[in-house]
Amino acid sequence: MGRFDGRVALITGAARGIGFGIAQRFAEEGAAIAIVDLNEADAAEAAAKLPKAAQTHVGIGCDVADRPSAEAAVARAVEELGGLHILVNNAGITRDNLLFKMTDADWDSVMAVHLRGPFLMTQAAQKVFTEQRYGKVLNLSSISSYGNRGQANYSAAKAGVQGFTRTLGMELGPFGINVNAIAPGFIVTEMTEATARRLKLEPEEFFKLNAEHNPVRRIGYPEDIAAAAAFLCSDEASYITGQTLNVCGGAAIH
Ligand code: NAP
Repeated sequence: MGRFDGRVALITGAARGIGFGIAQRFAEEGAAIAIVDLNEADAAEAAAKLPKAAQTHVGIGCDVADRPSAEAAVARAVEELGGLHILVNNAGITRDNLLFKMTDADWDSVMAVHLRGPFLMTQAAQKVFTEQRYGKVLNLSSISSYGNRGQANYSAAKAGVQGFTRTLGMELGPFGINVNAIAPGFIVTEMTEATARRLKLEPEEFFKLNAEHNPVRRIGYPEDIAAAAAFLCSDEASYITGQTLNVCGGAAIH
């Protein structure tokens, strides 16, 4: 028996990276998964790779920052998978630049995906959750929320995610809905590979440097985030809401 038997989870930005890792873990524990990502073909391809057990999975194309698209994705997940119990707001982008070089587009696109996206997706999902008096929302923040050179936009958005999480924990708790966040440290994905290239380092070299500076002497993997996500979205965590859990190997937060 899995912790998510009979549950439906919608995970944004889950065609790859951390989102896909969470989708795999939730599917292994019995959930039916809606993989939501910008490109529907990528989402469908990822959904087809998930362990099936008794459940089916679906891939849905959606821009989380666009209201009609976000609402349609939630409606499709409910219709095609027969309900919705868990929403993971994971979709993300980086548009790194030092402040003096940061453009309006760098700022606005990061705010749109990391803040407007969770706002729209959670607003759509809470209609289902409040009616059934049950729901789990998990938001992806980052330890960059404590400050990270070249990421004024991303850091501000990820700090915003933590305030959003605390407030929704208060508003939605009375309806049987838990809202929490995870702030990952350095996790190997295409996002961190892109950061390496921006810093003009080979990804392997960048990963090694980060591992050497981490208290547990390694970097993180999507599975590390998925394990914490599974706990926070399970009924074992029903007395936890409005919280952000740093999953970063104890990396120093300046
Ligand atoms: P990733 O590998 O770049 O994957 C992000 C996914 O989100 C991609 O599939 C991307 O689609 C999708 N996406 C982007 N914009 C979208 C939109 N508007 N609507 C729907 N989907 C969209 O990133 P990741 O490293 O797995 O990161 C996942 C989350 O964890 C993000 O919120 C990130 O900020 C956070 N995080 C990551 C790290 C880390 O070290 N990796 C650390 C802290 C926090 P496309 O491929 O089509 O662009």
